[in-house]
Amino acid sequence: ADGQAQPDCLFCKIVAGEIPATVVRQTDLTFTFKDINPQAPVHDLIVPRAHYRNAAELAANAPELAAALLTEAAEVAKAVGIADGGYRIVFNTDAHAGQTVFHVHAHVLGGDFLSTFGT
Ligand code: 5GP
Ligand code: ZN
Repeated sequence: ADGQAQPDCLFCKIVAGEIPATVVRQTDLTFTFKDINPQAPVHDLIVPRAHYRNAAELAANAPELAAALLTEAAEVAKAVGIADGGYRIVFNTDAHAGQTVFHVHAHVLGGDFLSTFGT
């Protein structure tokens, strides 16, 4: 995995501006947009511009980019006003987590008390 854009990847297309999204923030390494089907008052998705299929692939191949994604999550939380109340960062990873888009993305959820999760 070298981070190259994948032709059939939905989030590569969003990063490239080929599919519209509601942009929240952009940095040189990351792109943040609103989830199309929000599960909380604030539900944003943070992706690296580079393509890695999940958090494990990102961490193994580009650890500095994994760090940048977490740093950006804190910046997004501040920018959208949920930092004080608290928020959740989620990386669904493969089948048992229900990952549906295989371009790594951090869900940032907040704006109210969130339900607990698991099974
Ligand atoms: P996953 O289950 O893979 O972690 O989550 C994928 C997320 O992407 C879901 O929360 C889903 O609502 C969101 N999503 C799927 N397609 C689109 C899209 O075309 N635009 C946006 N903004 N979000 C999408
Ligand atoms: Zn991609």
